[in-house]
Amino acid sequence: MTYTLPLRGASNPSTQKNGTNPGSFARPADIGGPLSFSSPDTPGMPQPSDHTAWDFLPEGWVRDGMFARAPAGFVPVTQLEHARMGTVTPQMLRVAERERHLTPEQVRDEVASGRMIIPANIKHLEHRLDPMCIGRAGKTKVNANMGASPVSSGTDDEVEKLAWAEKWGADTVMDLSTGGDIDACRRAIIQNSHVPIGTVPIYSMIIGRKLEELTPEIIFQALREQAAQGVDYFTIHAGVLRRHLPLVKERLIGIVSRGGSLLAKWMLVHGKENPMYEHFDTICDIMREYDVSFSLGDGLRPGGLADASDAAQLGELTVLAELTEKAWRRGCQVMVEGPGHVPFDQIEYNMKLQRQLCHGAPFYVLGPLVTDIFPGYDHITSCIGATAAGFHGASMLCYVTPKEHLGLPKKDDVKQGCIAYKIAAHAADVALGIPGSRDRDDELTKARAALNWERHFELSFDPDTARAYHDEDLDVDTDFCAMCGHDWCSVRISKEIVEFASGKAEGFEREKVMKSPALTPEQREILEKRGVLSPQEIHKLASKTKKALESHEGEHAVCHSDYVEAEEAQLLQEQRLVQLRVKNTVGEKNASSAAE
Ligand code: SF4
Repeated sequence: MTYTLPLRGASNPSTQKNGTNPGSFARPADIGGPLSFSSPDTPGMPQPSDHTAWDFLPEGWVRDGMFARAPAGFVPVTQLEHARMGTVTPQMLRVAERERHLTPEQVRDEVASGRMIIPANIKHLEHRLDPMCIGRAGKTKVNANMGASPVSSGTDDEVEKLAWAEKWGADTVMDLSTGGDIDACRRAIIQNSHVPIGTVPIYSMIIGRKLEELTPEIIFQALREQAAQGVDYFTIHAGVLRRHLPLVKERLIGIVSRGGSLLAKWMLVHGKENPMYEHFDTICDIMREYDVSFSLGDGLRPGGLADASDAAQLGELTVLAELTEKAWRRGCQVMVEGPGHVPFDQIEYNMKLQRQLCHGAPFYVLGPLVTDIFPGYDHITSCIGATAAGFHGASMLCYVTPKEHLGLPKKDDVKQGCIAYKIAAHAADVALGIPGSRDRDDELTKARAALNWERHFELSFDPDTARAYHDEDLDVDTDFCAMCGHDWCSVRISKEIVEFASGKAEGFEREKVMKSPALTPEQREILEKRGVLSPQEIHKLASKTKKALESHEGEHAVCHSDYVEAEEAQLLQEQRLVQLRVKNTVGEKNASSAAE
């Protein structure tokens, strides 16, 4: 049997307009349709909806060619309203600059269809907000949570964590404060952030009062205050209804969403329906006034693998779909929140069911964790699920830190969570074939192949850690590292027999063996935490005059690959390249193109 394999090597440049993986296992890009950057469906998966936000225009609006006409005198506020009227806003232009595979018009059209949101409160735009988008036609985004709790942390700490999360690539930040001066904390976070800020407003509604005392007026007041402050998106748990509550009894762990459990208790105490659901239209109108986007909360998300995809979770999802349509009819931008804890095999179904029911509205998922038995490592258990979620349709991934289920994340936990999720989001983008998303991987591969350590570190997502780990063993930039050592370094050997003939190293050549620069304070701290080297050894690396391997400026170290004899290299080159150039079969063709 012959297989058609994806193109690889130089014939598959990652900058190709039609995606990084032409002929690969992802679908074609299909920007402008419901299948933009989507995975192929496993048999039996729910198909995309035939509807979009265009089918849920507000009363009085009429379609007019590609766009729509609003009633006379209407003044658009939200990005959705501008898009429906055919306007490319400055925020859409900025998004197109950041998503280089999209034009401003494509951004506008995706926003108009409801498949993309630009969470940008008009008040936050007066500060430092740099507009971004959330939607499957764009790159996969990462959210980091933070916020003071009643038992630890304060405003200064949270603002510091915000800057830290931005440094490590968070695309949005949720302020989930439940303690301290949460109003001041939120204000400080909004004023200092370059990324959109989300909140769960019900938290502030019950500070200083009993849950039972919550009234619609209190809800509206809190929403107005936070909207006027500049919050870019609200998690509103309007999908948990009274009829869902009996379904939770079958679960191992009941309701794990804070907002969901608070509203469930309110419904039981008052014997009434969820006020967020009952007053949804008023909530829409408050949010529209400032262009606060909806993040329709999944109050019934599963809190353990056994509870995943159950009647309570999916029952709530159908209500979230109904609310998506309602919010679109009031001119609001909408994304939908999703689980949680989901066995790996159920992730695709969850993503594609939401895509169908919610007509392509962006899906914003927490993890999901794919196993429950690794507390302390849940940034890993969940980033595995998040990669699958991103590949199968989620637009934004809410990070999970190593402290999940155990305590309030500290600075280093925020870093670990962000990095785990940047890995998940980037892996999904590469697999989906988003044009250009593989560029940096290819650059790093070239630097690695050329054994150009400086460039290797520069291109790393976390250069300090890469440099520190390298220098822990060997603080000389020579043509091997301590993992295999000189004689066993396949990259070094391969470089000598293949690379120079191919010209692939152009621009990546190492000039000479160099002493590594002295460790920076950050790199020093990384090694101190690892505790492998003694303080004296770390001090030596940080105040560098070391002459490891007897390397001197302008000279090769004794280990340099010049020690492989020219004749031997020639022999190896002939033996290897003759075989690799045979193109009779698909497998060999690919091997050949990889080598050329
Ligand atoms: S020594 Fe091993 S790990 Fe290090 S560069 Fe060479 S092949 Fe890679």
